[in-house]
Amino acid sequence: MTAAIIDGKAIAAGILDDVAARSALLRGVDVHPVVSFIMLGDSAPALLYANRLERVARPVGIEVRRFSLPDIVSVSELERTVSTLSQDSAIDGILVQLPLPDHLSEADIGNLIDPRKDVDGITVQNAGRLYLGIPGQVPSTALAMVELLDSCGIDGTGKDAVVVGRSKIVGHPVAELLIQRNATVTVTHSQTRNLARNTLHAEILMVAAGSPHLVTGDMVRAGAIVVDAGINAQRDGIVGDVDFEAARRVASAITPVPGGVGPVTNAVLLRSVVESAERRHE
Ligand code: NAD
Repeated sequence: MTAAIIDGKAIAAGILDDVAARSALLRGVDVHPVVSFIMLGDSAPALLYANRLERVARPVGIEVRRFSLPDIVSVSELERTVSTLSQDSAIDGILVQLPLPDHLSEADIGNLIDPRKDVDGITVQNAGRLYLGIPGQVPSTALAMVELLDSCGIDGTGKDAVVVGRSKIVGHPVAELLIQRNATVTVTHSQTRNLARNTLHAEILMVAAGSPHLVTGDMVRAGAIVVDAGINAQRDGIVGDVDFEAARRVASAITPVPGGVGPVTNAVLLRSVVESAERRHE
């Protein structure tokens, strides 16, 4: 079997067309969607992320406004910046660079952002909404992973789904979104004793571990649908957490890296920004 390639770029382009149309309507009534990005230090990955987000946002009429703080920023200084942005009626979304420097925890920022502007779903309120099944902001990578399934018409109902990774921004919320789609979900993580024994059960395999080629072809069930969020910089380019070439010989559908989850993550994030701007207008 050779898997169908799930084309994240094409799916993202569809979402961005909708975002561009909605953003144009808003600008027509003088509402200009803006997302702020708080950078902590000037690490190369953060700069790369900000540049990439800007490249996607500009053509759809969304401004990315950067705020640079030192990576040794105190909680109170970060709090001041976030609360200024939360109160600024010209700002629709607030993103904080992740992962955080070692001296800050998710708990430090989880209560600072106005939940209505928390376009990446990292606040306590939005996490609570997700787990209670109340509409709210969902972490964009997790949302992108399940929207990739949705856009291919893949129904989770009754399926065995396995998630590799339990981070608060990807693995854990993906598991919740799969439960909401009526899948039977197993969550694996770095302390899981036999990863392959679990992944081999997966009709839907969602991987977000941050470990290049962790999932090899012989860990994939025949006919599985594989969605890989991993982004790992290697000497010869970016690779995912799944050995794509080996897995595609076994799976029925698979996302490539790059060109799978990444573009859809940016697209759903910008859709959240435009939705927030629409609420501001209302
Ligand atoms: P993280 O480091 O916060 O979490 C990684 C998770 O993987 C942890 O729960 C850990 O227990 C688990 N894990 C690590 N090694 C494992 C192993 N050998 N077996 C089983 N589980 C293991 O990372 P994250 O923020 O969740 O990101 C995961 C990956 O997704 C990274 O490659 C990251 O770059 C990528 N990512 C992509 C996007 C995107 O837009 N595509 C966005 C965010 C993160």
